[in-house]
Amino acid sequence: MLRWQSPGERLLINFLISRKQVKEFQARVGNEQMDAVDKQWDMNVDVLVIGAGGCGLAAAIAAHDEGAQVAIVEKRDKPGGNTALSTGSIPGAGSRFQKAANIIDSPEIMIADLERIAGQHELSQVSDYLSRISAELCEWLVDSVPARMSLITDYCHVGHSVPRLHAPASRRGQDLMDDLLAGVAKRDIALAVGNPVQSLLTSSDGDVIGALIAGKGVESSRIKASKVILACNGFAANRDLVKEFCPEIAGAEYFGALGSQGEAVQWGRALGAGLANMAAYQGYAAVAYPHGSLLSWTTLEKGGVLVNSQGERFGNEDIGYSGYARLVLEQQTEVFAIFDDRIKTIADKEDEFRDLVELGGIKAAASTAELAALFNLPVDKLANTLASYNQAADGKAADRFGRNKFGLAPLQTKYWICRVTPGLFHTQGGLKIDTTGHVLRRDGSRIPNLFAGGGAAGGISGRAGAAGYASGNGLLTAIGLGYVSGRTAVQELGLNLAQ
Ligand SMILES: Cc1cc2nc3c(=O)[nH]c(=O)nc-3n(C[C@H](O)[C@H](O)[C@H](O)COP(=O)(O)OP(=O)(O)OC[C@H]3O[C@@H](n4cnc5c(N)ncnc54)[C@H](O)[C@@H]3O)c2cc1C
Repeated sequence: MLRWQSPGERLLINFLISRKQVKEFQARVGNEQMDAVDKQWDMNVDVLVIGAGGCGLAAAIAAHDEGAQVAIVEKRDKPGGNTALSTGSIPGAGSRFQKAANIIDSPEIMIADLERIAGQHELSQVSDYLSRISAELCEWLVDSVPARMSLITDYCHVGHSVPRLHAPASRRGQDLMDDLLAGVAKRDIALAVGNPVQSLLTSSDGDVIGALIAGKGVESSRIKASKVILACNGFAANRDLVKEFCPEIAGAEYFGALGSQGEAVQWGRALGAGLANMAAYQGYAAVAYPHGSLLSWTTLEKGGVLVNSQGERFGNEDIGYSGYARLVLEQQTEVFAIFDDRIKTIADKEDEFRDLVELGGIKAAASTAELAALFNLPVDKLANTLASYNQAADGKAADRFGRNKFGLAPLQTKYWICRVTPGLFHTQGGLKIDTTGHVLRRDGSRIPNLFAGGGAAGGISGRAGAAGYASGNGLLTAIGLGYVSGRTAVQELGLNLAQ
């Protein structure tokens, strides 16, 4: 049974409707083709979007604004997925917001930045294309959706040579989701929650023609669609697929949304789709333990360090939160982030960090001895670690791990400390696509009518591992490919309003 989230209802309040009501819904949105549809179908739309996270909602809005009838189906009872859990940060190279802040940037600089961190990979052309449209994308979010996003000027996160991330002021992906959901509601786009797509439906020629909704406790429905957009994220919540494709991080806890079960990969494989960059993933080296919220990487980027239970550093924190996750996992001991009060003041601007502080997730110490005592760390070793790090930060010695960006360090009292654990955030491998989001077969030909974006598609963070992940890559492929595939799908149907 389809459970539609009515545009007229308060967001996130869901209700049940019957098949009769589905027909009424069809009438309301003016779907004239319904009568002609074979009785085997419960519904007929121009564009069916599978998954109500960032990619799905962006795709739906873009397709709707081009003139299509769109429906979104979501497996879980609430839209949001990983997008709601993210910091909502998206790069936009050369955006008008950067220009207003006198930041010199361009797609070419971004392309070079992404290539420096990720190298050449199986979807380099998609990475270049998304860099080229990234400014347009951020401006579309603000102007058309509309979403409350602004340029982050306080820091440039991992992989970016200039500040180019645009995010909600709160740095909460939920705010971005709320704005996208409001955009969906404003446009009267149908959104059905609690409806897992079980399989894609194809014609005898192998063209995708719709999807079957079915599952435990769900009445099955068949939705006919001229175009289908897979926006159902990757496979990080599927332990078997993580072991198969990303074994190096299989031991880390998954900190993302539970919906990422890898259906896109499974359906795609069955249709002969190619897979791309399957061993790449986004990790996070510093999830606060036991709170489970992110310790802002600003605390490390601005000069903090990570130490193990021996009070020793074990790598160059400059490689970033994603690449560093594997090193934290390898310690197989407790790991702690240490920073100082000046750094805390900067991180205090972020809501999630302030929440963590309020929950007692970070603890203060007036001296190294107090710091060590908080978690039973060996005081002499910790003192040596901080002394040699501070010397390197002061330019008096080379850092033994090769770190050369020290932010505000040398660290000063008062110190702050947080116990952290590594996490897997999302997988970066997925279906092979072209720059317009079309899913490609292994031989490079398109699977007719099928698009993918976000975690369902291959990512732009290198072929393998976590070190190729630049901040914002996840949402750039989600919102970016949603925007592109939604528009492309409608243009191919010849429904474009502008025509
Ligand atoms: C804690 C955290 C922080 C992050 N921070 C950032 C950041 O700041 N910037 C950034 O770029 N990236 C970040 N990421 C990564 C980013 O969140 C993801 O890459 C991005 O949200 C993926 O978007 P999506 O639309 O593909 O997937 P999602 O947002 O997960 O949406 C997919 C939706 O599809 C639904 N679905 C799945 N299967 C089915 C099915 N069979 N039928 C129907 N529906 C289905 C899911 O339930 C889900 O609601 C972060 C990730 C995490 C976990």
